[in-house]
Amino acid sequence: METIQNFIKQVQKKEINIVEHTHKVLKEIKKINKEYNYFINITEDLALNSAEKVKKNQNGKLSGLFISVKDDICVKDIECTCGSEILKTYKPPFNATVIEKIIKEGAIIIGKTSQDEFGFGSFSTNTKTMPKNPFDKSRSCGGSSGGSAGITQKISFPHLSLAESTGGSIANPASFCGVTGLTPTYGLVSRYGLIDYASSLDKIGAMSKNPEDAFYLLDIIKGFDPRDQTSLNKELNKPKNKLKIAIIKESLNINKEIKDLILSKVKNYDLISLPNVEKYSIPTYYIIALSEASTNLAKYTGLRYGQTEPLNKEYNEFFTEVRSKYFSKESKRRIILGTFARMAGYREAFYLKAMKTRTLIINEYKKAFQKYDILISPTMPILPPKFTEINKLTPLENYMMDILTVGPNLAGLPHISLNSGFINKLPIGLMAISDHLNENNLLEFTKTI
Ligand code: GLN
Repeated sequence: METIQNFIKQVQKKEINIVEHTHKVLKEIKKINKEYNYFINITEDLALNSAEKVKKNQNGKLSGLFISVKDDICVKDIECTCGSEILKTYKPPFNATVIEKIIKEGAIIIGKTSQDEFGFGSFSTNTKTMPKNPFDKSRSCGGSSGGSAGITQKISFPHLSLAESTGGSIANPASFCGVTGLTPTYGLVSRYGLIDYASSLDKIGAMSKNPEDAFYLLDIIKGFDPRDQTSLNKELNKPKNKLKIAIIKESLNINKEIKDLILSKVKNYDLISLPNVEKYSIPTYYIIALSEASTNLAKYTGLRYGQTEPLNKEYNEFFTEVRSKYFSKESKRRIILGTFARMAGYREAFYLKAMKTRTLIINEYKKAFQKYDILISPTMPILPPKFTEINKLTPLENYMMDILTVGPNLAGLPHISLNSGFINKLPIGLMAISDHLNENNLLEFTKTI
């Protein structure tokens, strides 16, 4: 397949009829979508209008490049549901900062991708449009950015996807769909216009077929934004010449085949033990993420955004009716758990304690990065599961699937999931983590795999 850089150059030199090309892409993704459900919404009019604009001015760094966007990122006047019934009909009147940036560079947005409702899940099954794994339709794409990963694997045209991770939602589906998923340092990419799951954890990142392309997109979307209070005003560090690599010992207590595949890919490594990450990251993550989610979701009351009901009763009854009707079971579970963890009387025991263990986890990583530049683990502890297997999981078993991805997310560390091969024809991801703002070390590392 044509490389992204090559394609963009051809568009810039007017060697490609971008409008005709856009028609072809739309035809292909409609066909794929019938079978695989990767899009909640294919933005045909927007794509064709953008193609006309690119035809007139083709100087952008993303000129004519097709980009799909996870449904939790706002695109002006395009329905944005975050995979939820409660946000049906909501059309943001503005573009997220990342969308402004890619449009300015000539990108063509082709659609909003399927995801778990508000990012609540690891398999993209907590939503109506459940995407199917590109390698086996009876299996999950992973989640929550499942649609972005699936289309990135399946599309035959040059394409990138904007995805989002709170606790692993870029790495996990990238691993299950055999593509690259790059999650940047927290604060490097503006969250303005991203619908919040957990504000201290959410990060927009990139998915692509090849690692270099994900970094190419990151370079365009990163940068300080005064509209996001947690946006970083810092540059990325220069890459190191010789990277010191360690594999996280505890992450290898998994399926032997996955372990052997990961070990066979990495040369010259030490083993490092991160016991606090292993022990505390799941409870810490779920307490903090759900506490923040429960406050972030308080704004969906049927008054401002999305679905509503006739206003013929007391406000409290009205809010309850809308929220009961349109939030899914998983969202309700998370609102209740998060509210409980923050409640007077329980706050010390849960939320505040989780804040302390989060610091412990960050310090453990920081210490590891005094000695090493890259930490490695498998991305997921299992092969992409069948939908029938997912149905049998208890909520706790489901949350445990994130054991390897929540650590770097809690610490706001950049990480990348790379395809490292296949077992039983199913893709396996290798995850590399670097210290804050050391994305360039990750890029160097990808060249060795
Ligand atoms: N699976 C994790 C969760 O359900 C992470 C999801 C995400 O990163 N949005 O919270």
